Amino acid sequence: MAEYDLIIIGGGPAGLTAGLYAARARLKTLLIESFAVPSQAVAADRIENYPGIPSGISGIELIDRFKRQAKAFGLEFDVGNVVDIKPQNGKDFRQWQIIAEDKVYDSLSIILAVGTRPRELEVAGESKLRGRGVSYCATCDGPLFKDRDIVIIGGGDTAVEEALFLTRFCRKVTMIHRRDRLRATKILQERALAHERLEFVWDSQVIEILGEENVEAVKIKDIKTQEESKIPCEGVFIFVGFIPNTDFLKPHKTSGFSQDKGIIELDEAGYVITDDNMKTSQEGVFACGDCRKKLLRQVVTACGDGANAAFSAQGYVEKLKKMSRMY
Ligand code: NAP
Repeated sequence: MAEYDLIIIGGGPAGLTAGLYAARARLKTLLIESFAVPSQAVAADRIENYPGIPSGISGIELIDRFKRQAKAFGLEFDVGNVVDIKPQNGKDFRQWQIIAEDKVYDSLSIILAVGTRPRELEVAGESKLRGRGVSYCATCDGPLFKDRDIVIIGGGDTAVEEALFLTRFCRKVTMIHRRDRLRATKILQERALAHERLEFVWDSQVIEILGEENVEAVKIKDIKTQEESKIPCEGVFIFVGFIPNTDFLKPHKTSGFSQDKGIIELDEAGYVITDDNMKTSQEGVFACGDCRKKLLRQVVTACGDGANAAFSAQGYVEKLKKMSRMY
């Protein structure tokens, strides 16, 4: 029998909720988290739409509470960067090998809760000036820009929330958006548009980030007139969406699966395809949270996914154990 009934990969709201439910279902469960790829929730300065906490809560504090609760029910934790998962033949049935950079685990089932990471803008100057004025995390880097002029790129929930947060430190915050209206939730739009220290540049695309040692300006192009101009700034915060951390599930050399298919069925953007019960294309592998193909990516939906994934994994593991006793 495998070392674990269930291994959860990812320590964000989805993985931790799955861990809480699995531990309470008395599955022997390990959660592997990667400090190199932190949950997006940790980067949130204030989460104010998680029910039951009317005053809001920081992402770090919420994750810490989730962790303490799951630990109290017996969830085990390890730190590692998972690079592959492989099926192996157990005594009576198939089980899974989870391969981290420096360790191999085996388990009857897996929950993928690997989340997403910020998408890059992919313009000239971005990689060169990353960490030298270019940032993807306002909570992490905001205080470094005290009394400086910065620009924010994007118009979704993340861009607006982070822009509002950065107005606390920065002298001037300019949001550059490629359309003439924001995509963010209405309440965030209202706050942003009414904020006296937030300025907007509409219908504009950043085409280059300029600077020798550090960021000095961005070059923008007006999409309607094609006119180019520069906005001087010392910081560029990029919030243009996310990409799923599912590269290790794609076709690769050491995979036990065919090169063109990969291990788990993903959509064209790399999100894991599941059914309503969080089952993936592989028996015994479930997925939950932001890495899953779905409409709404929020802490609360990640938690719901996590509970469902754990419940499905529980049913699967119990069925396997019952089958093995029948032999
Ligand atoms: P998002 O909703 O995908 O928005 C990305 C923004 O970046 C859009 O405004 C998009 O412009 C812009 N964009 C994308 N590619 C671009 C490019 N190449 N150049 C310039 N602009 C580009 O991403 P998000 O704001 O990070 O949110 C991700 C998910 O997390 C969403 O489901 C969101 O609701 C959720 N979230 C929720 C909260 C909350 O509830 N408090 C907070 C943060 C995130 P267009 O508008 O023109 O497409």
